[in-house]
Amino acid sequence: MSDSRAVMAALDELRGALAPERVVVDRDKLDDYGRDESDLGVHPPEVLVLAETAEEVKRVFAVATRHRLPVVPIGARSGKSGGTLALAGGIALSLERMSRILEIRPEDLTARVQPGVITGVFQQEVEKHGLFYPPDPNSADVCSMGGNVAENAGGPRALKYGVTREYVLGLEVVLPTGEILRVGRQTIKGVAGYDLTALLVGSEGTLGVVTEITVKLLPRPRHVSTALVVFKSVEDAARAISRVLASGVIPRCLELLDDVALQACAKSAPFKFPADAGAAVMVEADGNDEEGVFAEIVRIAELVQADAAGEVIVAQNEAQRRDIWETRKYLSVNLRGLHPLKLSEDIAVPRSRIPEMVRKTREIGAKHGFLVATYGHAGDGNLHANVLFDREDERPRVERAVGEVLRAAVDMGGTITGEHGVGLAKRDYLEYEQGKALVALQRRLKALFDPLGILNPGKIFPPE
Ligand SMILES: Cc1cc2nc3c(=O)[nH]c(=O)nc-3n(C[C@H](O)[C@H](O)[C@H](O)COP(=O)(O)OP(=O)(O)OC[C@H]3O[C@@H](n4cnc5c(N)ncnc54)[C@H](O)[C@@H]3O)c2cc1C
Repeated sequence: MSDSRAVMAALDELRGALAPERVVVDRDKLDDYGRDESDLGVHPPEVLVLAETAEEVKRVFAVATRHRLPVVPIGARSGKSGGTLALAGGIALSLERMSRILEIRPEDLTARVQPGVITGVFQQEVEKHGLFYPPDPNSADVCSMGGNVAENAGGPRALKYGVTREYVLGLEVVLPTGEILRVGRQTIKGVAGYDLTALLVGSEGTLGVVTEITVKLLPRPRHVSTALVVFKSVEDAARAISRVLASGVIPRCLELLDDVALQACAKSAPFKFPADAGAAVMVEADGNDEEGVFAEIVRIAELVQADAAGEVIVAQNEAQRRDIWETRKYLSVNLRGLHPLKLSEDIAVPRSRIPEMVRKTREIGAKHGFLVATYGHAGDGNLHANVLFDREDERPRVERAVGEVLRAAVDMGGTITGEHGVGLAKRDYLEYEQGKALVALQRRLKALFDPLGILNPGKIFPPE
C-alpha cells in the first residue's frame, strides 16, 4: 500500500482538481473497484476518481506524480486477467463517465467514441445506420470500448473479421507525464510515422489512458444464419473444426463447447442440448445474399457430417438464435454451478493443433485431480480452459495445473493469451513465451512512456 501521508495529501489536491463528489473513498466502493472477473481476489485502491475529461486525467497524473502514487485505469471491470486490480493501492481512475458516442459518420464509415461507451450500446447505435462494428467480446453488454482497446479484445466474430486492433484508426491518449496526444488518424488508410496506435491497443492500461477512440466501421451484413452441431466427444468436434477451416470456408464464428461446458449449461441455459452430447460447435455465417449464407451453412454441415452425432440444427428465427448465443454468453458464469471457484485461461494455438491442445488440457486437469471445462473461439485457435475447484486451499495446485496448460500452448507454437491480456494472471509466463530480450525491450518501452512507473504497476511484467 502507498504511504498514508502521501495518500492524504493527494486526496486534498484531487478534491481541488476535480468536483469533490467525483473523488471517492467510501470503503465498499473501493472494494467494488478492487475486483474484476479474473478471480484473482480483491485489491482495492485507496482513492477512486471518476474522470470526465482528458484534462482531468492529466490533473490526476500531476497529483499522482507529485506523490508517487500508482494510477490504475478502470473501464467496466469485466477484465479476466486482473488488469484493474490496484496491487499497490493508489488511485483507481475510472473512465465510466466518459460514455458519449461523439459521432457516427456513415459517409466515412467511421465513428468517434469516449472510452466509457459500452460496446454493445455502440454496436446497436451503428446498426441503426446500417453499419457494423464487428469486435464482439461475449461481455459486450457490460464491457467498455476503452477496456476493449486496452485489451485488444476479440470475440466469436474475430474468426472472420479480426480483433479490436483492426478497427481502431486513432486515439486520444493521456500519458503519465501529462501529455495529451492524438495518435493515428481519422482516415481508413495512413502510414505516417511509427504505428503508435497499434502499440497502444493491447497495452493493457500500462502506457497511457485512452480518452477518445476513432474506429472504422463496415456495412452491416444483411443476413446471418446460426447453426449448432452436436458431437459424441470433444475430439470429434475439434477434428470437425479443423476440417472446416482446412476446406477454405471461413464462417464468422466457430465456437466450441466441451462436455463439462455443456453440463454447466444444462441447468439454467435457454438452449437444451441432448443429454448424451459430448461436445457442441456453434457456427454462424453472414453476408448480403441470403442464398449464399444458406449455402455456406449447408457446405459446413456437409463437412462436419462424418464426425457429428446428429443433424445440424439451424436456428429458424431470431429468438432461437438469441437462445443459442445466451447459452454461450453466460457459460463462464454458469460454470460456478458445477464448482464455485475457477481459474480461466485463454490460450491460443495454431488451428491444426486444436485437437491436441484440447486433449492435453484434459490430461493436465486429470493429473492434478481437477475438472477442466474447455470452450471458446476454437475457429481461431483461441480456447478458454477453465480449471474448476471448490476451496481456496486448492488454489496453489490449480495454479500449477494452469502453468502447465500455458506452457503446453507455447510448446505447440501458441500463446499464453489470445484476447484476455497478460495482466497479473499471466505475467510470470510472458518470458516463457517471448524470451528475456523481448521482455526487456518492452520494459524499456514502458519506461519511455511512464518514466516513474506510476501507471498500472505490476501488470504484464513480473516485478524485477
Ligand atoms: C462473461 C465474459 C465474457 C468475456 N468474453 C470476452 C471475449 O469474448 N473476448 C474478449 O476479448 N474478452 C472477453 N472478456 C473479457 C473482458 O470483457 C475484456 O477484456 C474487455 O475488453 C474488458 O473491458 P472493460 O471495459 O471491462 O475493462 P476493464 O476490465 O475495466 O479493464 C481492462 C484493462 O484495460 C485497462 N483500461 C480500461 N479502460 C482503459 C482506458 N480508457 N485507457 C487505458 N486503459 C484502460 C485497465 O487498466 C485494465 O488493464 C469477457 C469477460 C466476461 C466477464
